Amino acid sequence: MKDLVLIGGGHSHAIVLKMFGTKPLPGVRLTLITDVLYAPYSGMLPGHVAGFYDYGECHIDLRSLCEFAGCQIFVDRAIAIDLSKNLVICQTRPPVNFDLLSVDIGSTPATLLVPGAAEYAIPAKPVPEFLISWNQLISARQNHPEKPLRIAIVGGGAGGVELALNMQSRLAKKAGLGNGFNAGILREDGRVKEEKLEIHLFHSGAELMSGHNKRVRRRLKEIMISRGIQLHLMEKVSAVEKQEMREITSDARCPMPSYQISCESGLKLECEIVFWVTQASAANWIRESGLATDSNGFMQVSDCLQSVSHPNVFAAGDIAAMVNYPRPKAGVFAVRQGKPLFENLQQFLLKKPLKPFAPQSQYLALIGTGNKRAIASRGNFMWESPLLWYWKDWIDRKFMQKFSNSTHI
Ligand SMILES: Cc1cc2nc3c(=O)[nH]c(=O)nc-3n(C[C@H](O)[C@H](O)[C@H](O)COP(=O)(O)OP(=O)(O)OC[C@H]3O[C@@H](n4cnc5c(N)ncnc54)[C@H](O)[C@@H]3O)c2cc1C
Repeated sequence: MKDLVLIGGGHSHAIVLKMFGTKPLPGVRLTLITDVLYAPYSGMLPGHVAGFYDYGECHIDLRSLCEFAGCQIFVDRAIAIDLSKNLVICQTRPPVNFDLLSVDIGSTPATLLVPGAAEYAIPAKPVPEFLISWNQLISARQNHPEKPLRIAIVGGGAGGVELALNMQSRLAKKAGLGNGFNAGILREDGRVKEEKLEIHLFHSGAELMSGHNKRVRRRLKEIMISRGIQLHLMEKVSAVEKQEMREITSDARCPMPSYQISCESGLKLECEIVFWVTQASAANWIRESGLATDSNGFMQVSDCLQSVSHPNVFAAGDIAAMVNYPRPKAGVFAVRQGKPLFENLQQFLLKKPLKPFAPQSQYLALIGTGNKRAIASRGNFMWESPLLWYWKDWIDRKFMQKFSNSTHI
């Protein structure tokens, strides 16, 4: 019996498990170590924030998937790998032995370098913690719709932009203001402004969404400005501090703690909540375990998704850095790596040659704008339409359908 251990129930491992269920390998014991039972699907996360999808629609039930795959599941957090003894060290349970290991634990926004960020800001990942804070904010808003609310989002990549648009759409609706941002007040300059809800987006670069073409960047900037989202470009956040609790008076903001964001330029902003969606960072224990990593701590893998330093360790998704194919950290790549990862894990166990995989150099991103419209971005191409939202919705639902209980049978 060979032990194949998977750490993390990310997008690639969800596909690996589905494929193992369809094509099992005799003599192999599968184990998944996961810190959650329901794995979020990134493509639908912004839509969940906007209220278009409920929790079940955008989360993969890992227990049911493991049952289908004949995989034992340990709900725990891996904290180290002992590569000399082939053991995964977990937070609470005894070490787990492996012959072959695969890692798909994603990434989290980097907060360490900014004082106060790790303590006071809410990172977009891990998703479960982010959703707890988001749901608390929605309840606070429901209970005090009359109180002004100021939200700061730090990071102007795709994640930050989508969050800003989808949060605005949800909170404006929750406040009973009708059709989201359209219910705002039209100012003389033609911009829509929601008086009781302010969203501020801080970005260190001169332009939002640097990985996308000029037209996409320009259009998203226009949309955000037209909805009254306040953009602070070329502003590097240097500190997040907690303010004294204010008394709740009639003109007070929501009865929540308040924070102050300071930028290197001297700009300061007081707000009730800070969301952190900056550049992806890797878990420290990957590098500390002795696996070869790039300068940012992501695990270096070959074209076969195999660690360049340890042949019996594979990785996919955000945590993997393909040495020959550097790519942005996006769910679309994690999904595409699922099948080659499955094939190579099986090839390795069967002692057959591994199969190299080349990820696409350009990919189609469908960016939801929070109003059931989406913008398509690929290379130099841009297209905006409500039809794209329905297309995106169809693609995402089709992906999730693969993991529904009914399709396991
Ligand atoms: C706000 C936001 C919006 C985004 N929107 C999109 C989008 O629309 N489209 C897109 O393509 N990408 C999007 N992304 C990027 C996308 O989320 C990631 O690229 C994608 O989730 C990576 O998938 P993964 O399989 O590597 O890891 P993940 O999906 O992050 O899964 C990793 C899993 O491992 C678990 N885990 C982590 N550490 C441990 C541990 N130590 N032990 C056990 N389990 C562990 C986690 O709980 C999680 O379930 C977005 C990101 C953000 C922050």
